Amino acid sequence: MYYESTRGGLKSVLSAEAIKRGIAPDGGLFVPEKNISLTNDEISAMADMSYQERALYILKHYLTDYSDEEIADCVYSAYTDEKFGDKRIAPLTRLNENVNILELWHGPTCAFKDMALQILPHFLVKAVRKTGETSEIVILVATSGDTGKAALEGFRDVEGTRIIVFYPQDGVSQVQKMQMVTQEGRNVCSIGVEGNFDDAQNGVKAIFTDESLKLKMEQESFKFSSANSINWGRLVPQIVYYFSAYADMLKSGEINQGDKINFVVPTGNFGNILAAFYAMQMGLPVNRLICASNDNNVLTDFINTGVYDKNREFKKTISPSMDILISSNLERLLFELTGHDPAPINDWMDSLRESGKYSVDSAVKKRISEIFWGGYSSEVETLKTIEAIYKEYGYVIDTHTAVGVDVYDKYVISTGDMTKTVIASTASPFKFNESVVKAVLGDEALKGKTEFELLDILSKECKLKIPVGLKDLDKKPVLHKQVCGKFDMKQQVEDILGL
Ligand SMILES: *Cc1c(COP(=O)(O)O)cnc(C)c1O
Repeated sequence: MYYESTRGGLKSVLSAEAIKRGIAPDGGLFVPEKNISLTNDEISAMADMSYQERALYILKHYLTDYSDEEIADCVYSAYTDEKFGDKRIAPLTRLNENVNILELWHGPTCAFKDMALQILPHFLVKAVRKTGETSEIVILVATSGDTGKAALEGFRDVEGTRIIVFYPQDGVSQVQKMQMVTQEGRNVCSIGVEGNFDDAQNGVKAIFTDESLKLKMEQESFKFSSANSINWGRLVPQIVYYFSAYADMLKSGEINQGDKINFVVPTGNFGNILAAFYAMQMGLPVNRLICASNDNNVLTDFINTGVYDKNREFKKTISPSMDILISSNLERLLFELTGHDPAPINDWMDSLRESGKYSVDSAVKKRISEIFWGGYSSEVETLKTIEAIYKEYGYVIDTHTAVGVDVYDKYVISTGDMTKTVIASTASPFKFNESVVKAVLGDEALKGKTEFELLDILSKECKLKIPVGLKDLDKKPVLHKQVCGKFDMKQQVEDILGL
């Protein structure tokens, strides 16, 4: 399998090279040049496999320049019972007759990012070796909160790498910030940016494409790569759990071979739902992909109108990992839907950069509305959903997952579709405990409490154990105190690397 850039500037790249680079030199994103298709029999065979075997089976098709042993080594190092606290890795919980919740947050940092970021460092270390790379790899990350911690944890003390994470100083939860500023490891660094996530992401993208910096880096034998979902190595492991959820439903007899299901995905940068799209392209029987947004509903509007317009107020919400106005991975979807034609992609991305807006042609718009359904959940609706699900099922969900559940309800009301549905649950309720406690116990319960005290309150109320990764976080020493302006990110990187 070869990879090419969505902007047309590079083709015939092996996966190790694509993963090592993270982003293509023309600013585009790497995508597989060909579609992979699996038969229903091949998909059904996954029912009797473990999560690790399913992962191996899917990844082999994409990482053809890795040997089976190399992929197995990555898979079995990443997805352990020890790290995920559950040997099913991504367990499916049945909510009711029609709905299953795919719990993607059993990893060490309590959000779905671990599903990819526990394995990406293994892919990368092997990629460095396979491509004969001698430079030290510097991972640059812009995060809305969850990627940063998951990447720090995944790359800590990984030989031949360093990692620098930029997060919006006032745009992450207390728990998220504490997770990042207390990170241990000799190759790690996290920095608060005075700006929002888009500022951090734009800053990182600018550093990646800065030619003078690239020269300096080369002289000092450093090379940048990315752990954001612009890196193909982040996306490909996410395809696995859509197959895994389907295989679990086959195994339990909830569906039969070939039956179509819906997936609902709480969406920000469009990475998670894009992985679902690739699963569908590979032959996974999918009826609809339901794209759930919060008040930053740029994707809802895009799916409904074909116009992407980020010229709107950026809203800080209780589902901060979805507070994004520029969904990078949409570029990959558009490239797939134009039959791999880079010309319109370049036009649209130029237009996005220049005017903050683009509009796709009617053929692409039509395809999008056949595959996707878009909706959003307001702050009040999100809280009400957490409360309603807890009351009805005794099941606690976080704010991001609640956005998914609420948008699913809206989808059912709007379409009457009763197809069996899997809702991706992207974070542990403990990670966003302030909003969850508020939804379940009311405003009063929050009075005078820190997020860390709320962990105990939530644990007692819901009779759930506080995840290891969040327990005693407030007692850990703060190791990273740097804060910088949104235009000073490059300088920070130069200082850290001693350039
Ligand atoms: C990152 C994240 C999302 C959004 O995922 P994308 O791949 O960026 O669309 C949703 N929920 C949580 C908890 C996240 O951490």
